[in-house]
Amino acid sequence: MSFVNGTFSIVCHKCGKQTDFDSEEADFEATGGSERQMGPENGYSWEMTFDCDNCGNEIEFDYQVYEYPQGTFNLEDVKITGAKAINTFDYDFSDEPEPNEDDFE
Ligand SMILES: [Zn+2]
Repeated sequence: MSFVNGTFSIVCHKCGKQTDFDSEEADFEATGGSERQMGPENGYSWEMTFDCDNCGNEIEFDYQVYEYPQGTFNLEDVKITGAKAINTFDYDFSDEPEPNEDDFE
């Protein structure tokens, strides 16, 4: 998935250390979609757990992005435990190839 650009930055609740994730590190997986009025809605999620470099605080996030209607960013929902997001990615769904129905689980 390469629909994200920019940087996702989060700050540790315990020590205030900032951790940045480059868009190339993002590992979004399609979570399936649903059929809505203007066509399919596609969901993507990226979950990760890591320890803060500085204080060892366990940080966990569940980053969800929804595309609806197709080719358009709809909304993001970032749930983080142990830190807070100060910057999220930019999205560009416009150059994604048409999904292949046969590949869809
Ligand atoms: Zn920390």
